[in-house]
Amino acid sequence: MNHATGNTLQDLQVAESKLLLQTYERYPLLFVSGEGVHLRDEKGNDYLDLLSGIGVCALGYGHPAITEAIATQSRQLLHTSNLFHHRGTTELALRLTEITGMDRVFFCNSGTEAWEAALKLARAHAGLLRSEGKNIGTKFLALEHSFHGRTMGSVATTHKEKYRSPFAPVMPDVEFVPFDDVAALRAAFSSDVCAIAIEVIQGEGGINPVSQEFLATARELCDSTGALLLLDEIQSGMGRTGTWCAYQQYGIQPDVTTLAKPLGGGVPIGAMLCTEEAARAITPGMHGTTFGGNPLATAVAIAVIDAMKQEKVLDHINDVGGYFVSRLRDLQQKHTVIKEVRGRGLMIGIEIESADLAKEILSGMLARHIILNRTHETVLRFLPPYILQREHVDHAVAALDELFTLHSKSSATLVGEANG
Ligand SMILES: *Cc1c(COP(=O)(O)O)cnc(C)c1O
Repeated sequence: MNHATGNTLQDLQVAESKLLLQTYERYPLLFVSGEGVHLRDEKGNDYLDLLSGIGVCALGYGHPAITEAIATQSRQLLHTSNLFHHRGTTELALRLTEITGMDRVFFCNSGTEAWEAALKLARAHAGLLRSEGKNIGTKFLALEHSFHGRTMGSVATTHKEKYRSPFAPVMPDVEFVPFDDVAALRAAFSSDVCAIAIEVIQGEGGINPVSQEFLATARELCDSTGALLLLDEIQSGMGRTGTWCAYQQYGIQPDVTTLAKPLGGGVPIGAMLCTEEAARAITPGMHGTTFGGNPLATAVAIAVIDAMKQEKVLDHINDVGGYFVSRLRDLQQKHTVIKEVRGRGLMIGIEIESADLAKEILSGMLARHIILNRTHETVLRFLPPYILQREHVDHAVAALDELFTLHSKSSATLVGEANG
C-alpha cells in the first residue's frame, strides 16, 4: 500500500486529491449509509436527501425490493455477456416497451451510452433511407442549454461550450437551436437533418420544459422527411415527472427515447428505446456492449418497475410533487428573490435572483442537513426520491424560508449601513 487513506473526511480529501482524476469539486460530505429518504454521514448525522444521487435512487435507500433483487440475482448469476440469452433482458424489455409505447430496446450501462446509441441509430437510419432513394442528410439539431452526456457524440450534442471545446474536434454536423423557439426550429430544419434531439424537460439546463407547440413542431418536421425525433428522458423519465415518460404528458411519441438515471434504482443501467421503423437500421454486429443488460442490472430494474406499480408510485409522485411546487410558490410570494418555480412531478427547480444567492442558500441547506444542488448557476434543483412524504417537503420549505428570511434581513442591514 502506497497511500494510507485513513477514515476521516480530511484523510479522504487528501488521498483523493492525489489519486483521482480531478473531475469533480465535491461537497465536503462523507456518507456511509442510507435509509428511506435519508443519508447518514460518518459521524452519524442524518441528511434529508432531495437529490437522490442526481435523480438515481428513485426508491430511496435500502428499499426491500431492490436489496432482495440484488441478493437473489447475485447468488444465481451476475453476468454472461450478450452472446447468450437470459430472461432478464426480455422481461425488462416487455415492461419498458409497455410503459413507454416504444417497440424495441437496446440495453447499456449509463445515460451517455444510451444517447450514443440513439445518435448512431439516427445516422444509420438516415443511411438506410438514402439507400432506399430518400433525400436525407446527416445533421443533428440540438437545443441550447441541452445536456446529453460526456462521451464524444453526447458532448457534441451538449450545448455548454466548456464541455466540448477542450476535446475538439467533437462529432461534426450538429446545430444548436434556441430553446423552445418554434420559428428557429423551422428555419434550421431541412432535408439535411437526420434527427432532432430534445430533452422534454431540460435537467442540467435548469429544469426547463419545452412547450407543447415546440414538441409538436419537432414531431411534424421529422414526419415530413423521415428524420428521427430523439427524446432524451434520462433525467425526466421513469416516473420522475409523474408519468413514466415526460413526453406522455404531451401526447407525442418519439422515434427514439433514452432512459438511465433512476432505471436501476442505484445500479447502473441505461436503455435506448425505438420504433420498429427506426430499428430496421440496425443489424447484428453494428452496435454492442459487453455489460449492457446484464442479469444483475436487469433484475434490479424489473424490481424497481414492479415495486413502482405495486406501490402506485406515479400517483404519489403527482401528489407530493404538486404539494412541493405549491409550497414553493407560496414561498415565492413571500421572497421576491425567487424568480420562478418550475417543474413537473418531482423534477423541480427554483430560479434565484443571482448565482451568489443560490450558492448561499445551497450551503445553508447543506449546513441544515438537507441535500439539493445548483444547476445552470441560478437554479436550485430538487430531484428527491419518489418516496418523499409531505412532512419532508414541509421540513425543507421551512429551512428555505428561514434562509431567505436571514438573507433579506442581512441585505436590509447592509443597505441600512450604506445609507447611514
Ligand atoms: C445525466 C444525463 C445524461 C448522461 O447520463 P450519464 O449516466 O451521466 O452518462 C444524459 N442526458 C440527460 C438528460 C441527463 O440528465
